[in-house]
Amino acid sequence: MVIELKDVTKRYGTGPVSVTALHDVELFVDAGEFVVVLGPSGSGKTTLLNVIGALDTPSGGTVRVNGVDISAASRRELFDFRRTSVTFVFQAFNLFTGLTAQENVQFGVDAGESPLDAADVLHSVGLGDKLDRFPHELSGGEQQRVAIARALATNNPIMLADEPTGELDFETGVQILGLLQEQAGNGRAVLVVTHNREISRIADRVIELSSGRVVSDGPPLGGKADVADLHW
Ligand code: ADP
Ligand code: MG
Repeated sequence: MVIELKDVTKRYGTGPVSVTALHDVELFVDAGEFVVVLGPSGSGKTTLLNVIGALDTPSGGTVRVNGVDISAASRRELFDFRRTSVTFVFQAFNLFTGLTAQENVQFGVDAGESPLDAADVLHSVGLGDKLDRFPHELSGGEQQRVAIARALATNNPIMLADEPTGELDFETGVQILGLLQEQAGNGRAVLVVTHNREISRIADRVIELSSGRVVSDGPPLGGKADVADLHW
């Protein structure tokens, strides 16, 4: 298992104003799995991704990702873990506006251990002819492709995507999901979190969150659908 969470709790704040964003979460993900975490706004999806990616620390329980016990790691170990194990794709793309597509991808990988060539990866996501464009010269879907290219170019084994289609129109969203699904086919563990139930139909496995608890975990009801069958 590349991702193993046991009894993970995350509390924000203390005393009467504290919020428990995750309650006793158990979650296991293997390499090559395309997992969708489904839940309404406020159910703890972003908190879960941040804990898995070591952007936040759990209040209790154990988090083991890519062989590293994040709940017990030193700052130095966490620094190396973030550099070599995980990579994030965000809803709002988070590109540097003053850097070209190629420079954005390059910036993301300079710290990595065995990064891929930025231009090659941009070619692989269909942007080979737009290496020198700035984000404002690209459509939303193209910007998200650059963000995915930046994540892929790290060559890290775990990809965490937080509502990656939230700001895209339907058709572009479906293309981006196809691209993410392909990465699991390439042996990465890919976790996509969303509030959109339709997206969960293409997952190998759907983990449903409600008020910070896992309420179901299994293959999509009705069987796994093809990206081309999605509608929203
Ligand atoms: P989702 O991504 O599913 O919308 P979040 O993980 O962002 O959910 O939030 C889960 C709960 O934790 C919410 O009640 C939210 O208000 C709370 N929360 C998230 N981050 C913080 C924070 N930094 N401080 C306090 N409460 C937070
Ligand atoms: Mg969120």
